[in-house]
Amino acid sequence: MSGPHDSGDRGDLHDAAVRLACVELVEILTDYLEGVLPARDAAVIEAHLALCPGCAAYLAQMRATVRVLGHVPVETLSPEATSTLLAAFRDRPAT
Ligand SMILES: [Zn+2]
Repeated sequence: MSGPHDSGDRGDLHDAAVRLACVELVEILTDYLEGVLPARDAAVIEAHLALCPGCAAYLAQMRATVRVLGHVPVETLSPEATSTLLAAFRDRPAT
């Protein structure tokens, strides 16, 4: 079978980063911080962070917390925290 799409990797990463929802990023950020995320997923996260100031700020906050606690604070990723985060994103003017 031959696919109609040219599945080159150029631009594919950027596309995945744009389509990655902030809530999805938050869900896998723990794995990213623990270094257990596949390289491909980590690259998508990094590309998304470059595009999304909200997630970049969230990651900076998480990294600071990890530095203090010495481990990834799983509690921070509760549904309540995620809702608060998303509410904060909604307040941001779309650019
Ligand atoms: Zn984001």
